[in-house]
Amino acid sequence: SKLQGENVVVIFNKEIDDKIKNISFAKQLIERALNENLFTLYYQPFFNTKTLKLEGFEGLVRIKDKDGKIYTPNIFIDVLENSKYLMDYEKWLLQEITQKARKWHVPISFNASANSFKNKDYINYLSSINPNLNLIMEITERVLMINPEDTKELLSKIKKETALKIAVDDFGIEYSSLKYIKDLPIDEIKIDISFTKEIVDDLKTRSIVKAIITLAKELGVKTLAEGVETEEQLKILRDLGCDYLQGYLLGKPMPEEEAEKLISNQG
Ligand code: C2E
Ligand code: CA
Ligand code: CA
Ligand code: CA
Repeated sequence: SKLQGENVVVIFNKEIDDKIKNISFAKQLIERALNENLFTLYYQPFFNTKTLKLEGFEGLVRIKDKDGKIYTPNIFIDVLENSKYLMDYEKWLLQEITQKARKWHVPISFNASANSFKNKDYINYLSSINPNLNLIMEITERVLMINPEDTKELLSKIKKETALKIAVDDFGIEYSSLKYIKDLPIDEIKIDISFTKEIVDDLKTRSIVKAIITLAKELGVKTLAEGVETEEQLKILRDLGCDYLQGYLLGKPMPEEEAEKLISNQG
């Protein structure tokens, strides 16, 4: 009846609606960032565990709006990685970090996205980077595990044609990942923040980290622990023989001017 029709309740899923809103917000933000040069990199230092000397920086993307508002990648990186703008972004990122590596004379790492990693143009672009620069490409463990055989070939090609070092990001959270570090041409593993968080209170976690570090050493792979926030975590990781540390305790991601100050203070 007419009355019923007027009282139809639209079932409305707030979660889905929020998701759609967030995606379109992210899309607009990314387009604006590209058009108005709002992308910027923050640099998070990492340190030698034994000496606590600065070893290098990881470049982490931010969008800095005209009014100074900073957007962190959690709100736009998934959309960016799956957009037609990805290659433009990657080229900008590589220009940015090669410029800094030339100027700062320290190793700089960058995060490569899954979709770029499979892209031929991207690999060719990597080959064109000056081989004297000390750059580290971070690939998440999840990406490496998607297709280990193809990954092996791709990584071997990258190692052959570029001077990049390769680090496995977020290491340890995927099942059976240990098996692959033997077969893949990897220089470093970044032990996931979830291990660091539990390393003080959970002895089983500590045993796993110990095993990872021992195995990595035997295979000639460097280890870095992510997300170090306390002195206790630092001490345990030092005792376990982890090579490098990164985290808020020693340095947060910072704008390039601050990174420059840190370099000159260390010099
Ligand atoms: P990620 O590569 O695992 O980077 C580490 C994240 O942990 C960073 O967040 C960093 O700010 C944060 N972090 C560092 N130390 C600590 C700590 O002690 N405690 C805690 N709680 N967190 C810490 P951020 O900068 O928001 O980046 C988030 C993710 O976004 C990155 O995770 C990476 O996967 C992605 N990302 C960042 N920049 C790029 C980029 O240029 N390209 C791509 N494809 N992804 C990027
Ligand atoms: Ca990373
Ligand atoms: Ca990580
Ligand atoms: Ca992560």
